[in-house]
Amino acid sequence: MTNMDKKYHQQTIAVQGGWEPKNGDPRIAPIVQSTTFKYDTAQELSDLFDLKAAGHFYTRLSNPTAEVLEKKMAALEGGIGAMATSSGQSAVAALVMNLCDAGDHIVTSSAIYGGTANLFGHSFKKLGIEATFVDMDAGEEEIFAAVRPNTKLLFAESLSNPSVRVLDFEKFARVARRAGIPFAVDNTFPTPCLCRPFDFGANMVVHSLSKYADGHACSLGGILVDKGDFDFASSEKFPALTRPDESYHGLVYTEAFGNAAFITKARTHIMRDFGMMISPFNAWLTNLNLETLPLRMQKHSENAQKVAEYLEGHPKVEWVNYPGLKSSKYRELAKKYLSACSGVMTFGPKG
Ligand SMILES: *Cc1c(COP(=O)(O)O)cnc(C)c1O
Repeated sequence: MTNMDKKYHQQTIAVQGGWEPKNGDPRIAPIVQSTTFKYDTAQELSDLFDLKAAGHFYTRLSNPTAEVLEKKMAALEGGIGAMATSSGQSAVAALVMNLCDAGDHIVTSSAIYGGTANLFGHSFKKLGIEATFVDMDAGEEEIFAAVRPNTKLLFAESLSNPSVRVLDFEKFARVARRAGIPFAVDNTFPTPCLCRPFDFGANMVVHSLSKYADGHACSLGGILVDKGDFDFASSEKFPALTRPDESYHGLVYTEAFGNAAFITKARTHIMRDFGMMISPFNAWLTNLNLETLPLRMQKHSENAQKVAEYLEGHPKVEWVNYPGLKSSKYRELAKKYLSACSGVMTFGPKG
């Protein structure tokens, strides 16, 4: 992975990240619209299949254009690796499936996107993975009380869709640490330009790239980013990562891939089997659109602040909910965790 995040500002990463052309290479990352990749010998292909060598061989597993997007988003978030998916829904699904089997359980903030709430509350329930929904503003003890012996994940949104409530990151991170489970955050609304969950204790981040990241309403996409700091190797809770994987000739992910075990298994197990890869063209468009993300997020936030203040002073408006307002109960959390409050607000007309 590129170490751009250590050397450059986010504005630079948004333009230059993920693609470092060599002499004579195209300036802009090309669209590699190919299902398969050519190798001279069967041995080379066999080594790729067995994860003994790195390289692309089939776009369901990896693709050079998707990889550019993955590296750029990983650098923007400060993660060690990422996996781009066909949508935000499939990124969340990949996160859960990479950690949970039937019989397992997750604890999630109840202030989450409706599609995610449905996925957790209905679709995963049918597959035997249960969710407990907690109020994100509940106290640490109350949230911790929802954890069970079979709980494998704590989940929340940094800035909730659509209620724009701000997550108390450190409270959630403490619960996850006490429970010995990963803490994952959906960072779709702030994007890494306004909030970096990894700086406040999150172990994984997911995004719907279909919203601000794409920003031009042209491509659906999602991404799962790993900070690489959850100690799977010392945990008894995740045998799929720490015991031999029969579908990979007995490979043990934590031994073979170290701190990249989680994100490698997401790709070689979940994406291989469920096929939720992003298309090269959508990856290309999203990557191009990310070039202006820092500028757009700044402007969205300034515009929203003005509109929210205007509406708050309007005689026909009953209430306005935007964490950038002095009247917001999330003002302090917003100041602590967000550099600006993004572009979504809610309000109610009088009567
Ligand atoms: C839209 C959205 C999703 C789902 O993403 P899609 O790309 O529409 O599948 C997940 N989380 C949040 C916060 C969203 O806004």
